Amino acid sequence: MAPLKRIVIVGGGTAGWMTAAALARLAGAGTTVTLVESEEIGTVGVGEATIPSLLDFNRYLGIDEDAFVRATGATFKLGIEFVGWGKAGGRYMHPFGTFGRDAAGIKFHQIWRRQAGLQAPLNDVGSLEDYCLAAVAARLGRFNRPTGDPAAVLSSLRYAFHFDAGLYAQFLRHLAEEGGVRRVEGRVTQVDLAPDNGFIDAIVLADGRRIEGDLFIDCSGFRALLLGDALGVPFVSWQKWLPCDRALAVPSTSSGAPVPYTRATTTEAGWRWRIPLQHRVGNGHVYCSAYMTDEAAADALLAGLDTLATSEPRQLRFTAGVREHLWERNCVAIGLAGGFLEPLESTSIHLIQSGITRLMSLFPDSGHAPIERDKYNRMLRRDYEQIRDFIILHYHANGRIDGDFWQQCRDTPPPDALVERLALWRERGRAMPEPGQLFSEDGWIAVLMGQIGLPQSYDPLVATLPPEEAARFLQHLRGVIGQTAAAMPAHDQFIASHCARPL
Ligand code: FAD
Repeated sequence: MAPLKRIVIVGGGTAGWMTAAALARLAGAGTTVTLVESEEIGTVGVGEATIPSLLDFNRYLGIDEDAFVRATGATFKLGIEFVGWGKAGGRYMHPFGTFGRDAAGIKFHQIWRRQAGLQAPLNDVGSLEDYCLAAVAARLGRFNRPTGDPAAVLSSLRYAFHFDAGLYAQFLRHLAEEGGVRRVEGRVTQVDLAPDNGFIDAIVLADGRRIEGDLFIDCSGFRALLLGDALGVPFVSWQKWLPCDRALAVPSTSSGAPVPYTRATTTEAGWRWRIPLQHRVGNGHVYCSAYMTDEAAADALLAGLDTLATSEPRQLRFTAGVREHLWERNCVAIGLAGGFLEPLESTSIHLIQSGITRLMSLFPDSGHAPIERDKYNRMLRRDYEQIRDFIILHYHANGRIDGDFWQQCRDTPPPDALVERLALWRERGRAMPEPGQLFSEDGWIAVLMGQIGLPQSYDPLVATLPPEEAARFLQHLRGVIGQTAAAMPAHDQFIASHCARPL
């Protein structure tokens, strides 16, 4: 079968320009890549926190990290601080990277758990977070890039970014256009389907221009113009587990030295985010309209700001869920056109990336083999469902004692896969993600520990480690991690000396 000649991307938000930048290498090799966007319609305009997988995407595009941080006003992110979610209502960190170091094939947190239950002084082990470099550095407001030396503790550091998603899209647009992608400004008003097989033949713009293609990427945002409207692929709602359906977003003035982590704080019927960039702070409130009015949500958002709002809050409406298929005939939906999961674990941009990389690994030719499409659909659905379950964990295992919203979240039975995970944690402290899952075992441990607390018992294999020896091992690790974090530069100093945004 012949290679595809014409790829058309509809939408120029983060999804559209990430896809265009990644496909730019096809442009010029006998294939045209065209991106259509409408400034009149605009983009969703939020999306500021990311996870470490973005580094792989940027590396794939050959992006110089300092240039990217400077251009997008980015700061470094070492994890997410969750406030008011867990049993004691307190706070915990979901840091990137790992907790401690496994010993004799036993997971580190199991050793820590056994020691924590012993008599003094053997139980003097601090918190689990004391054994994660990202968590300790985040609390100290420090940052450094990991070293390549695997023997150094600093090599274990994982990080991501907070950035201005609009500036990121502009940055990628530049790369994509340099790589040969053609941008067309205009509003799509019609989608022409082939009468014989229902494939998309062309899109038609408001001024009558007709753009034909062999493969269409739907990056049109919540509208899902191609996959939803034109091809009629139904939306599967996950609202029963994730009932929040609105968000208010508002930027505020810069807070001085930005902290290297996102903060997610529960409210009466949802949660607030706080994301520090170099030049401002991004704030928002995700809430459930069945339990909170828009006015109350705006009040809670504004009352929680620690700097001055620079505009009125902007509202966004959504339903958690995903399209039944993300690839249908000759159309693949990437970004909000494919599905939406609230930004509690900053995963939307990752899902865009996952859609792009999986599409590249199953790239069709003019035969449009159903087997590749079906594989793609299964993989993406699994990506969405695994992240969905991780987000549900935060809601279902919440420890807030006030309010019907939180009670409803506790009462709603979680998906089966999560039921087993919760039981494994409660009984034995086992986290064990499925192979290929985005969030690592340590990510699950952080959230399970933060939401539920200590498991009832621990891995019986820990008995093979004498308690005194384990105590020395823990003390040593904690010391080395603490010293490594303390020796890092302050986060704002690191930015100032490497990648400050021009004033
Ligand atoms: P959009 O930004 O909506 O872009 C759609 C594009 O399609 C636009 O260019 C528009 O002009 C174009 N278009 C639409 N209709 C037409 C038409 N008829 N003709 C021509 N062009 C058209 N993600 C994260 O990773 N981290 C976060 O912290 C985060 N926070 C979020 C908070 C909220 C409240 C929301 C709602 C989302 C958040 N996201 C976050 C998700 C993130 O914003 C999106 O995944 C990302 O911006 C991608 O959006 P998109 O490109 O799919 O859609």
